[in-house]
Amino acid sequence: MLNRLFLVMLVSLVSSQALATDWQTPLEKSGWTMLTTHKQLMDYLKPLVDSSPMVEMKTIGTSVSGNPIPALYFSKDDTFASQRDKKPVVMIIAQQHGDEPSSKEAAMIVARRLLNDDSSLLNKLDLILVPQVNPDGSDKGSRRNAIDMDLNRNHVILSEPESYAIHQLFLDWMPEVTLDVHEYNAVLDRWIEAGYIKDADEMLGGVTNVNIDPEIIHFTRNIFIPETGRGVEEDGFRFHRYIVGEPFENGVVRFSTTAINDSRQSMGIYNTLSFIIEGKRYGNLTNEIEKRTKGQVSAMINFLKTTDRHAENILSIVVQARMGIAQDSQSLVQMDYFPDPEKPTLNFPVFDLKSWTHTNRDLDSFRPSVRIKKSVRKPDAYYFDAKETRLIALLKRHRIGMLKLKRDKEITTETYHIKHITDAVDEGKHAFVVDLKKTIQTETLQAGAIIVPVEGAASNLIPLLLEPESNYGIVSTRGGGKHRFESYLVEGKPYPVKRLSSIEHLDFEEPE
Ligand SMILES: [Zn+2]
Repeated sequence: MLNRLFLVMLVSLVSSQALATDWQTPLEKSGWTMLTTHKQLMDYLKPLVDSSPMVEMKTIGTSVSGNPIPALYFSKDDTFASQRDKKPVVMIIAQQHGDEPSSKEAAMIVARRLLNDDSSLLNKLDLILVPQVNPDGSDKGSRRNAIDMDLNRNHVILSEPESYAIHQLFLDWMPEVTLDVHEYNAVLDRWIEAGYIKDADEMLGGVTNVNIDPEIIHFTRNIFIPETGRGVEEDGFRFHRYIVGEPFENGVVRFSTTAINDSRQSMGIYNTLSFIIEGKRYGNLTNEIEKRTKGQVSAMINFLKTTDRHAENILSIVVQARMGIAQDSQSLVQMDYFPDPEKPTLNFPVFDLKSWTHTNRDLDSFRPSVRIKKSVRKPDAYYFDAKETRLIALLKRHRIGMLKLKRDKEITTETYHIKHITDAVDEGKHAFVVDLKKTIQTETLQAGAIIVPVEGAASNLIPLLLEPESNYGIVSTRGGGKHRFESYLVEGKPYPVKRLSSIEHLDFEEPE
């Protein structure tokens, strides 16, 4: 009996050791020289998931080239997200950009750590982890997907299967907290000319679009980012809040963009505590990959620690903000970053190429404040002709509710007439200024017209997508990008999406 027990113990010891070795990522096994391929990622995840009842794996979509996109669902409860009134759901996605591999490599290590030494981080939260959004780009070492689309500029149009899959996952669960893991290029021409390389090992950015609930923005900036940063610094990495830009002549330094075509802000617009991590990268893809990966692991683990510490508070902030989302009567369709006289410069970690030292520099041209440039009153609903099939398909991809008018009806509508379109610059990129005139008239809506009520979880998103003056929507360069609805903005023509101030007396067919 004793011998047999001993044998069982021996066998289990040997097999768990064998497994522990198997659980090294391909990058670790190679002595930090070879990046993990998509196939190796899948081979690594399968036994890891099978080893624990705390995690399940599902395929959430398929890339352009036919590769599966896996998601891991971590929970200490029998059913994922079954304690939603007590535990926030957190969603972390990595490697939307294929040439930012440390995000994926770190996600694989974080998955292993959560099932071992860091399992206590799952006491107060449930986690969805997508370790690789862009398998095609990753295997080619390129930023974009297989048909040359930048997935993190595609969260308005959602034309790509990879970004579409991420949004369906988000809409399935409506996580309270989301994080998107990237790398940034630290070596930039104008910075080198001035004698510097950006030197934050890890940057963490939050939501800045001011349509998002102020309490979420406040908690992000004053509590979540500084606390997470202190943890990352204690792990030995240089940290800063995420900035972009150039502190030089004609330059601007700001907290990234207010656009909602990236993952951070597109999920934030639902009043989500939504973030982006940017790890430092320079040189070729494997340059300093061990340090880069460990920095990303530190940022992700500290991110989860901050969420864990504030789990209750986060749940209450987000639940409150989402309850209030339909009550905002204004949609802020244009905003920009402005200087703050009280904070004229920003102290930022740099590598000084003259003294060859890691140091800090006060950056000029700092614009920390977001101010509103244009707002419009939210209508009760938008409406457009049923022949606008491309728009219907887009709204369906966002799961925005649409109704079909049952019979002809005379009603008061607001129509925009496009007078002039002028070229402009917005956040340093090409944009348009639309000069228009709004008329209010009574007209007959045809049976079959599509009505989009401005209500529910997407009530911040809908006007931003549909208003012609929105810098974030389907007709703008920063919203629609190369897939923008160009034909909707024609000088001398009415804008095809009209506004209704009331839909009280309309009859509808079954929803679209
Ligand atoms: Zn990126």
